[in-house]
Amino acid sequence: MTDLVLREVVVDGRLVDVRASGGAIAEIGRRLAARPGDDEVDGRRGALIPGLHDHHIHLVALAAADRSPFVGPPVVNDAAQLTTVLHQSDAALGEGEWLRAIGYHESVAGPIDRWRLDSLVPDRPVRVQHRAGGAWVLNSRGLALVGVDASTDRTGVERDGDGRPTGRLLGLDRWLRERLPPHPVPDLAAVGRRLTSYGVTGVTDATPAGAIDDLLPLAEAAARGALPQHVVATGGPGLAAVELPSPLGRGPVKLVIEDYAVPPPATVVRWMRAARDAGRPVAVHCVTRDCLRVALDAWREVGVMPGDRIEHGSVVPPDLRAVVAGMGLAVVTQPGFVLERGDRYLASVDPEDLPHLYPCRSLIEAGIPVGGSTDAPYGHPDPWRDVAAAIERRTSSGAPLGLREAVSPERALALFLTPLDAPGGTPRRVEVGAAADLCLLDGPLSSVLEDPSSRRVALTVIGGVAR
Ligand SMILES: [Zn+2]
Repeated sequence: MTDLVLREVVVDGRLVDVRASGGAIAEIGRRLAARPGDDEVDGRRGALIPGLHDHHIHLVALAAADRSPFVGPPVVNDAAQLTTVLHQSDAALGEGEWLRAIGYHESVAGPIDRWRLDSLVPDRPVRVQHRAGGAWVLNSRGLALVGVDASTDRTGVERDGDGRPTGRLLGLDRWLRERLPPHPVPDLAAVGRRLTSYGVTGVTDATPAGAIDDLLPLAEAAARGALPQHVVATGGPGLAAVELPSPLGRGPVKLVIEDYAVPPPATVVRWMRAARDAGRPVAVHCVTRDCLRVALDAWREVGVMPGDRIEHGSVVPPDLRAVVAGMGLAVVTQPGFVLERGDRYLASVDPEDLPHLYPCRSLIEAGIPVGGSTDAPYGHPDPWRDVAAAIERRTSSGAPLGLREAVSPERALALFLTPLDAPGGTPRRVEVGAAADLCLLDGPLSSVLEDPSSRRVALTVIGGVAR
């Protein structure tokens, strides 16, 4: 493997050259001597920073999202837009193909059920995923194809007062997938290229996968280099004790406390124990006050271990903040939701919760490690949008949302610079011995942070290789 030499780059304010060798930074200094076979890049005096880490993303869903319309804000904000997007997708698909839409939330265009979907797209099977994940709504054709009818006896198949299935299927992802035609193979190479263009060199895939088959496409794409990023995967409690396929890193076990179907506390405790039996920490999805309380109660019973974290922490009021800090838990937040979903939050969230929505600064000040993520495809996959949102705390219409939770530009960027196994820990640095996972910007860091944007990424280096 040839060495990569980045000439004339700015590291921590100093103009230097950086040599990467064998996947690590080997040398940093002024005018490093050239060696035969070096791969040289002119850094044009741009800032060189560690590559960004997205601490919570869903890679396969992101690959699929390129083919499946997104029917939530900011794309779809009312019933007319929902109709338009579904009709467009309907017209683009071949005969009999499933129309799969994601990201729905009833607050934008009202509740949907099979009959409403039938009125929008009657002639092909349709399935629409609720934005929280875990809940699907099918039209009548879709229900017939997966074998749901009045006689279906299964928890999660919602029924109306007359016992008819409404089309809503809750917590039946896996069951549903077994009844659907095989997905076209997700184009993870396209996802890899996209993340590379943002300067992302590592991610945690936070999908609560229930079967090892769900993780194989990731491992395969990572192994053949189609997905050049370092990938740590969580999987769900069912995979807690399972060895993940190489080269995936083993992250915490993902536990989902759904706000619309809060599991009994004993279940959460059982999940946590399954993770502990396998020696693994947990990453717990918590988007409401009540979910957070259930999670914290379970932690009290099972105990906390290093690496335990709260995903989203969408509502963390002061009393619970103190508990989270005292327990030593990290929070992985999505500042981009303030931008993308903030207007809807302002219209629909309990006013009591608004000041504590997607907190950032108050958590950091309380000593809680805070890591950043996009949650793509449920948020936009570009982490620089999240950096900007963490600084500005404004919704897409420009309304302020929790200005007191805004952080400095440097702190906002640091949310994405922490190690994959310690989100919110000490930000990585460009130094000798560190992994050569780097992001070269097209100007000084101070100028990039004035208006953070992935357009300023000039080059991404992963494992010492320029991508
Ligand atoms: Zn997620």
